[in-house]
Amino acid sequence: MKKKSKKHAEAEKPWKLKLKTLEIHGGGSEKDTELRPGLYRATAFPLGSFERAEKLFAGEERGFIYTRINNPSVDKLERRLAALESAEAALATSSGMSAIALLALHLAAPGGHIVSSNRLYGGVFHLFRENLPKLGISVKLVENPFDLKLWEKSIKPNTKFLYVETPSNPVIDVFDVGALARLAHLHNIPLVVDGTLATPALLAPLKFGADAVVHSLSKYMGDGEVIGGAILGKQKLIDDLRLTWFRDTGPCISPDNAVVLCYHIESLFGRMAEHCRNASLVAKYLARHRKVERVYYPTVGTKSRFNKKLMPKGFGGLMAFEVRGGAKNARTVLENLKLFWHAPNIGEARSLVIHPATTTHGQLTPKERAKAGIPDGMLRLSIGREHPQDLIDDLAQALGKI
Ligand code: PLP
Repeated sequence: MKKKSKKHAEAEKPWKLKLKTLEIHGGGSEKDTELRPGLYRATAFPLGSFERAEKLFAGEERGFIYTRINNPSVDKLERRLAALESAEAALATSSGMSAIALLALHLAAPGGHIVSSNRLYGGVFHLFRENLPKLGISVKLVENPFDLKLWEKSIKPNTKFLYVETPSNPVIDVFDVGALARLAHLHNIPLVVDGTLATPALLAPLKFGADAVVHSLSKYMGDGEVIGGAILGKQKLIDDLRLTWFRDTGPCISPDNAVVLCYHIESLFGRMAEHCRNASLVAKYLARHRKVERVYYPTVGTKSRFNKKLMPKGFGGLMAFEVRGGAKNARTVLENLKLFWHAPNIGEARSLVIHPATTTHGQLTPKERAKAGIPDGMLRLSIGREHPQDLIDDLAQALGKI
């Protein structure tokens, strides 16, 4: 019998690696020759023989062709993401929005129907309400997404998939992925989960029965440095997407960004633990403040026990709170914060603040915002990894200005 090389033997670990280890080793293979993910800044790759070229283009043989379709650096990121999400395969994209749009086109065009929670990032809400309908895809936004019966009632013969963002941006609602997956499968349709705010460090939607997961990698995964997105699921889904909508519309991620993402993902679990701890401390402080009407974070409020069952490891760093006195007072607080940066991202080391009603969710009508639970006095906080007491002190002094 041929003796295996040492490297090969190492790759075949006799035990199942923990997720925490996979953030560093996930997707590695015996073919790896680099200790760190290598940067393949190239547009095209040699095709070899005439026959191989034909097979590569037909999708009958795996290999690198052209960076719009695949690339070794991007492949490394995809394998690492798939390992972390326990998915058969992953497709990295230029942004979270392109991942969601691609998957929706692939699953529902032409003439399909989507049932989604109305608790969505504003950009996705706009895609679903304005642009997919222009392509003949209709979307039902369930207005009380905690009520499974409303989801079921919305399913039609042409419904192609259920879609849920959990936790949701900016009200941080946590949904029961297992229950939604069971409902979807009862109707022979897939469940797609946007797991951006949880990341694989806090939630494993595929293990709960979801069929595909989408991520904006622009948040926690990239630690605020790069824009990117991903779709994860069965190998067939990913292969089909790669050779159709992805190849034909071109929203690929650059190899440079893929490598940056691989590096940041190596510290994901530790960073998420810090975000979770800081956010729950800030939420606890704000929940007791007399100038705060309501805090939106899953550890506070009536659903906190149930939420903990759904996401026992924590809820990430995004939270929101409603300032008493509406938009005017929310503006005063925002303008007086000294440590929080006024910026639209989520998941960076530094804490950020934004007023959703006039920015990230400004594309919703006032009525739609009310139904989605976004009041004018709400401020969204992306809690970073500073010392939590400094964040609390900053909020205390800013709230003191109203
Ligand atoms: N999904 C969620 C939950 C988001 O918060 C965002 C952006 O804020 C997106 C998707 C879109 O991601 P991207 O900005 O990478 O296109």
